[in-house]
Formats: sequence, C-alpha cells, structure tokens
Amino acid sequence: MKIISINAGSSSLKFCLFEMNNETVIASGNFERIGTDGSCYTIKFNGQKITQNLELSTHTDAVSILLDKLVDLEIIHSINDIKGVGHRIVHGGSKYSESVFITNQVISDIESFRDFAPLHNPAHLLGIKAFREVLPDAAMVAVFDTAFHQTMNEETYLYPVPLRWYEEYGVRKYGAHGTSHRYITDTVKSILGRDDFRLISCHIGNGGSIAAISDMKCVDTSMGFTPLAGIMMGTRSGDVDPSIIPYVMEKEGKNAGEVIDDLNNHSGLLGMSEYSNDMRDIVSLCEEGNEKAIRAKNKYVRRIVDYISQYYVLLDGCDVIALTAGVGENNVPIRKEICEKLSPLGVKLDEEKNQICGEIVRISSDDSKIPVYVIPTNEELMIARDTLKLIMNNR
Ligand code: ADP
Repeated sequence: MKIISINAGSSSLKFCLFEMNNETVIASGNFERIGTDGSCYTIKFNGQKITQNLELSTHTDAVSILLDKLVDLEIIHSINDIKGVGHRIVHGGSKYSESVFITNQVISDIESFRDFAPLHNPAHLLGIKAFREVLPDAAMVAVFDTAFHQTMNEETYLYPVPLRWYEEYGVRKYGAHGTSHRYITDTVKSILGRDDFRLISCHIGNGGSIAAISDMKCVDTSMGFTPLAGIMMGTRSGDVDPSIIPYVMEKEGKNAGEVIDDLNNHSGLLGMSEYSNDMRDIVSLCEEGNEKAIRAKNKYVRRIVDYISQYYVLLDGCDVIALTAGVGENNVPIRKEICEKLSPLGVKLDEEKNQICGEIVRISSDDSKIPVYVIPTNEELMIARDTLKLIMNNR
C-alpha cells in the first residue's frame, strides 16, 4: 500500500511517498515559496532529482501538480494508488495523545490550538484542505508532535505558576519532537527485543529536545510550553531566567515579542559564538582555538549532559541513551564529548564505532554501564506507519 507523509508549512509542502509493504521511499521532495515569487518544486525518485520553477498560488496547486507529476513520472499508475495521507501536525494541545483520522472536529481542534503554534498549525490546515480537495478518497490522518508527551503526569507538565494560568489559558508543558522520540523508542524496542526499558532519547539537531521514556511512555521532556525551552539549540536559548526578558526590553527599547524573537532566532550557538548556528562551523572554529565558539560548544554539551543526568535520576537508572537528528547522527566530536562528560554515570565510548554515521550503531564500549546508540530518526516513516495502522484497524 502506498502512503504519503506530508509536512505543510505556510509557504512550503514537503512530502515522502512510501511503499508500505517494505517501508521503502519511492519518492520524496518539496514545494517551496508557494504563494510568492520564485516558487519551485523538487522531486527525488529512483536516484533522480527533478527541479522546476513554476507558479504555485496555493497549496492546492502544489498538491495537484505533485500528484500529476507522480503519475507522469510513472512513480504511481494513478493518483488513487495513494491510499493514505499522513499529516504532520505540530500541536495537538492536551486533547490528542495519538494519531487520528482527520474529521471536521479534528480540523477545528487543530485550528483552536493555533495560539500554541501560530506558525505551524494554520499552515498544516492548508495542506489538509489541499489534499481533501485533490485526493478526497484517501484516508487522511493527523500525527501530532505533542501526542507522545501526553503521558507526562500533572506534576511534570504543570509549571509552578498560578494554577489559573493552566486552567484558563492552557499554560503547561506540551513538549515537541514527539514523533521523532516515538520512532526512536520503537527502534530501541526492536533492538532490545523488549519494551520494558528506560530510555533517554536525545533529538539534537538545529532544534533539540531530550525525552525520558519508561516502558515506551514519555515521563518528561525538555521542551515546554513552546519549543524555546530545554537544551541550548542552534538559534534558541533553551531554558533561561524569564526576568531577562523585561530587563532586555527596557535596555534595548524592545517589546516582548522582539525579545522572544532574539531568544528564538539569535541565541543558542549563534548567539554565543556570534558566528553560526551550525555545529559543523562551531567545531571548525573550536579547532582554530576561537574562544567564543569553544564556550558555545561547551555550554551546548553541558546542557545536554545536565538533562541526561537529571533524567537518569528521574528514571531511577537508564537502559539506553539514544542520540539522533543532525548533530546526534553525524557530529562525531560532539558525540564524543557528550559520552566523555557522562563518565560519572559509567558511560564509556568506543572511539572506532563513534566514527560511523548514517546508520544504527552502538557507540559505547562493551563495558559501558549504559549502552549509547546513534539511531537515525525517521519522522516521515512514523507518520506513514501511523496512517497505515489506522487504515488497517478500520478495515
Ligand atoms: P533541524 O532541527 O533543522 O531538522 P538537523 O536535524 O538537520 O536540524 O540538524 C542540523 C544540525 O546538524 C547542524 O548543527 C549541523 O551542523 C548538524 N549536522 C548535520 N549534518 C552534519 C554532518 N554531516 N556532520 C556534522 N554535523 C552535521
């Protein structure tokens, strides 16, 4: 069965078409600058890559062209070969703890959570509307980034602030990257052959979050009310003292939104290094002895190690630490530093295995007290799996 995973942004639409019989990608790509000048698309299939500039006024245009192209390129015989469409949805509020078929109620709920994810949820609805128009017979599924974290208990997800903020405005920890953490959890289950493990899953890319997982369920996660919380990231600060915000507002004559923008887009590795948000650049600068870069890199590693240590205690031990996303999957020196800093927990690195990238690999040595795995994440496949599962359960 063919299933397509969709990640719709306000002016973009990324897709990944799977043959689910063997979970292989048969085509992937993206549409960019929808509704603005210079729109274009890229489709990758069968070792080839096609790019074309053309006018795309709406997401519906993009979806129509995508489906026509998939047929023209003989990737599928007919658009009706696609039996399911899985949509990535950033925010499912407190309501959605698992993936669901998209109904009118689900659409209005996604709309109602827009205050929590103003850049994302309205954009996802554009993708849903487009597929409903162009492919009305396919099963349509919503896969929420927040869903996996819904198993956190009240004590964990509530902030120590007036309770009324939660009751009246929904102020609580929601977390993010849930689809990635769930994929990592499922993969660890396959590796270990059991589901009663304690896992610390570290999604460290440009954005980053860490999740504490026990018996396949999320116990705590580093992102909070928004993805600004938790570990230090490429351009995001992660946790800071909120009193900094009014202080800088006054010093720089900015409003709250502008300071939050600084914390989201001009902080993290970029803010501290005053050079780049990309860990490859930071590592190169560190090798040249650049002090700002060294400080930024050390802080970045420190924040990750702080969270892992905290979750080690929370979980009363740990059976697996997993590293994933851009930095976790590829950055050999940062993986090494993280493991070295975890030596008080008995973590030991296998230097040779740590050179391997792009595949599942256990980078800890055989006598490490906690096994450390690198596991490439695959949110698109997780979305397709959920879509397939709902279709099969509904037959
Ligand atoms: P996003 O959160 O935007 O999806 P990614 O998961 O792609 O981000 O992660 C981006 C980060 O991964 C960057 O800091 C980048 O330096 C790092 N990264 C990506 N590829 C490599 C690589 N081949 N070697 C080292 N670091 C890499």
